[in-house]
Amino acid sequence: MTEKNVSENFITQIIDTDLESGKHQDIVTRFPPEPNGFLHVGHVKSICLNFGLAEDYQGVCNLRFDDTNPAKESVEYAQSIQRDVEWLGFKRDKEVRYSSDYFDQLYTYAQELIEKGLAFIDEQTAEEIRENRGDFTHPGVNSPHRGRPRSESMDLFRRMKAGEFEDGKMVLRAKIDMQSGNLNMRDPIIYRIKRQHHIRTGDKWCIYPMYDFTHCISDALEGITHSVCTLEFADHKPLYDWVLDNISIGCHPHQIEFNRLNQTFTIISKRKLIELVEEGVVDGWDDPRMPTVSGMRRRGYTPQSIREYAKKSTVTKKPSIIPMSTLEDCVRQELNTIAPRVMGILRPLKVVIENYPEGESEMIVAKNHPMDESFGNREIPFARELYIEADDYKENANRKFFRFTEGREVRLRYAYYLTCQRAIKNDAGEVIELRCTYDPETKGGSSPDGRKVKGTIHWVSAQHADDVELRLYDRLYNEKSPKGMDNLNDNSLEILESAKIEPNIINNSEGIRYQFERMGYFYRDKIHETNKPIFNRIVTLRDSWAKLEQ
Ligand code: ATP
Ligand code: MG
Repeated sequence: MTEKNVSENFITQIIDTDLESGKHQDIVTRFPPEPNGFLHVGHVKSICLNFGLAEDYQGVCNLRFDDTNPAKESVEYAQSIQRDVEWLGFKRDKEVRYSSDYFDQLYTYAQELIEKGLAFIDEQTAEEIRENRGDFTHPGVNSPHRGRPRSESMDLFRRMKAGEFEDGKMVLRAKIDMQSGNLNMRDPIIYRIKRQHHIRTGDKWCIYPMYDFTHCISDALEGITHSVCTLEFADHKPLYDWVLDNISIGCHPHQIEFNRLNQTFTIISKRKLIELVEEGVVDGWDDPRMPTVSGMRRRGYTPQSIREYAKKSTVTKKPSIIPMSTLEDCVRQELNTIAPRVMGILRPLKVVIENYPEGESEMIVAKNHPMDESFGNREIPFARELYIEADDYKENANRKFFRFTEGREVRLRYAYYLTCQRAIKNDAGEVIELRCTYDPETKGGSSPDGRKVKGTIHWVSAQHADDVELRLYDRLYNEKSPKGMDNLNDNSLEILESAKIEPNIINNSEGIRYQFERMGYFYRDKIHETNKPIFNRIVTLRDSWAKLEQ
């Protein structure tokens, strides 16, 4: 049996019961994003749940754009959402849906409510409506237009649609209960006048239905069986049910609310993400530090590991927060098995092997994966001049430092034992080069006389290595529960412009995530290159934040 997308939870229990009782034969879910931004890791939980349930129960999940607020929506956003859902690996067997596909039907249902005396045209100003709505401690006050004849409301509504009135002049409200303890039930607005070009319907409409009215009807029209949404919609459920109970639609989906995915060191909200983009804090929605699907993709996270992560945020009724390091662990775990190993130097320090013949070089055999032989071997060039990582040398090293210091012998990965003879400094006193000698008997990394060295470091041949730019990323915020811009981490991006990698990697980087031995996992960022190949660090080899997550 293949593993289920969705672990057993209270929603799967509801579905199981509905299938057993014969209430439903097939499951239909939907994922209903508004195309007003890019998808974030929170949406992934909802995608994995809705598409995952449909897959697990051999049902259907619709991708439906909730496009009722034209001012903030764009085709670009809609396209990015579609691409992200596909990239995550979920298949749709049907066309993408749009709430705007239902504008005609929605208009008809609104008229039905008016005919039944369950909706009326209100001409109070937006401010009056807000004031008269009351709050948690004060009941609402009926609109003076609440009792107007149905025929009058119908006439005004049709003229609203015909464009006879200016924006904001009047609205259509459901007639429910201004005394209700639930503010959503205090005669909610269901239609407003707004002259705004729409991404699908153009200028056909100058009135647009509100979310609460649209959502339940769209669900019903699509025959959704289980309308799964996040907890903040619990208070909207009575309205969801009220609308469907009062129109002739013949389908009444079951709204079920679950807990959102929240993540430490992250603000998950499109509104806040837009701010980061607009203020130039990041270089776009797909900045590799962003918790967006496009950012994670550009950074090199795999769809599989992101889905694995979303699964770890359990589906319950209780708000919860999941450590960001859990996401990174999921990524690491997968990359460890799929990433070929190579050598790359982040901060190069030159090494000259004084007893290695000038002008010569040789090939060294290296394993592409230490635990998985199916990855095979490769040959890498070795020569008199190399680069190593600058911090693999220390002038005043104690006995626990097993890498280079003057007089110490160290193994170069897959190559030779090297002894550091002396360091050369510039006028500023900085070490700029190491002079070393090698033991030709130690090729492959061991000594025939059984001599042991404790340290092994990575390296590249100076003349053969390729120049690359590396970008290292850290948390965007330095607070576990960030509030906003004040908590931004100033060091979330480090650019290393003089990095080096072994040959034959740049031209074999399409879609491949590499482990640079000892330094982390890296992924080429071709789209953003200008003069040099750029690799983004996907994640480090070990978790340096675990302590802070406690
Ligand atoms: P945001 O709150 O970030 O602005 P949103 O909820 O307004 O997002 P929508 O496009 O309306 O964004 O969301 C589409 C679906 O994704 C909704 O069903 C919503 O419940 C779900 N969703 C949004 N954020 C999360 C989250 N953090 N965890 C789980 N599901 C989420
Ligand atoms: Mg929303």
